[in-house]
Amino acid sequence: MRKLSTALLVLSISAVLSPWAIAQGSAPAKAKNVILLISDGAGINTWHAASYYRHGALGHEVYDDFDIKLFASTYPLNTSNVPTRTMDKSVTFDADKIWNKDKVDSTFQGSLGKYPGYFAGYEYLRADFTDSAAAATALASGHKTYNNAINWSNDDKKLKHIGEYAVENGKALGVITSVQWSHATPAGFLAHNVSRNEYAAIGKEIVESGLATVVMGSGHPAYDENGKPTTPKDDKAYRYVGGKAVWDRLVAGKTDYKHIETKADFVALADGKLNMANKTKLVGTVQNHATLQFNRVGVAAGELLDNQPDLATMTRGALNLIAKNPNGFMLMVEGGAVDWAAHANNLPRLIEEQIDFNHAVEAAVAWVEKNSSWDDTLVIVTTDHGNGLLQGPDSNNDAFSDIVNQGAGALPLVRWHTDTHTRELVPVYAKGAGADFLRSVAKPNKGLATYNVPEESQRFVDNTDIFRASLNAFGITAADPQ
Ligand SMILES: [Zn+2]
Repeated sequence: MRKLSTALLVLSISAVLSPWAIAQGSAPAKAKNVILLISDGAGINTWHAASYYRHGALGHEVYDDFDIKLFASTYPLNTSNVPTRTMDKSVTFDADKIWNKDKVDSTFQGSLGKYPGYFAGYEYLRADFTDSAAAATALASGHKTYNNAINWSNDDKKLKHIGEYAVENGKALGVITSVQWSHATPAGFLAHNVSRNEYAAIGKEIVESGLATVVMGSGHPAYDENGKPTTPKDDKAYRYVGGKAVWDRLVAGKTDYKHIETKADFVALADGKLNMANKTKLVGTVQNHATLQFNRVGVAAGELLDNQPDLATMTRGALNLIAKNPNGFMLMVEGGAVDWAAHANNLPRLIEEQIDFNHAVEAAVAWVEKNSSWDDTLVIVTTDHGNGLLQGPDSNNDAFSDIVNQGAGALPLVRWHTDTHTRELVPVYAKGAGADFLRSVAKPNKGLATYNVPEESQRFVDNTDIFRASLNAFGITAADPQ
């Protein structure tokens, strides 16, 4: 009764307060499995550009058929890079300010060059954005925090993440990415650290905690960004894989984990043919120090490195291992280099990376339909923030005007408005057990009509609601609701 009256009180005070109270009052969905797929740094036009290139039209991606199609806010708690323990530098967010078409004559200084301001709304989107660490913490723990934090609060305390909740409830955890497996987004579902830049410590925690059943990504110390063997120069070469001592133990089979690195082994795992010897858990480090593909020589799409698995193969492999747990699993799949391509304003490789991510979503959906069901599994497809503020070629005169479709196989016409993150409202797609939770907590924003989405999609949740949706689907009650 106390919970109910609190809920009513919160609802009556203000509709803008945390929707946690509503979640507490609704029946949990009891999903056995949750699969969360994150295309890192993908504003809506990144998704559209890839669809135009691939299909010549929108509406043909597997998630376009999902029941829930909404948006999410992604802003961080504050603009600090360290815990402040105060309300200093707090970030506020007003979704209506995004759509302000008042002209401005400001300039945004990016890493690649200067970007004219054009419109007040663009200025708003380029300010006070989240980094991938604070965003991963929000998605994984339900807590807003400072940029740099990996499940670390602004009060300088460790935060519990969805991977820990899942494992405590007898489920398996899988985390895979197309970038280093200690990078910010995977770290958010595996580790805790005051700073995302403590890669070696994060990698060490990932291996030594043994929390996850499967972890895959890049960061190999003995391969360069073109997938060619190289001699590690110094101990720093091992930073993405937990440091030299952890790496040596990992590859020698002296941890909980079997270690794989060849494409053949990733394919064998996906085909259910990998010999796990006496191990039940696996770390896969592809033979690349940087990304699966993005950092290879050149800037054009195509001519992929042939010794790297793709994200879909890794997804199938991860599912083979974690689905052995009779209690189910939590799986996070990150298309991490979409963000890197946006930072480089590289449209061909942005599209290449987003299509690779889309193939991973298809692999997850195919797994659900063959091996599970939508009554047992929740799939959420989203991003952690925008990047590049990709708009149409006329978006310097006509605010938010669309990118221009040039047909399948041709690059759409676009204009970049930054080379870093934004606080855009970003797409969220969901289907399966507990997906309705997101609809129940979404708030309307008429400005989203700009993206030509139907009225039921002109609504947004907060990134912290993705955590709540996952927990609600599992039927788990958080230890520390905000
Ligand atoms: Zn990110």
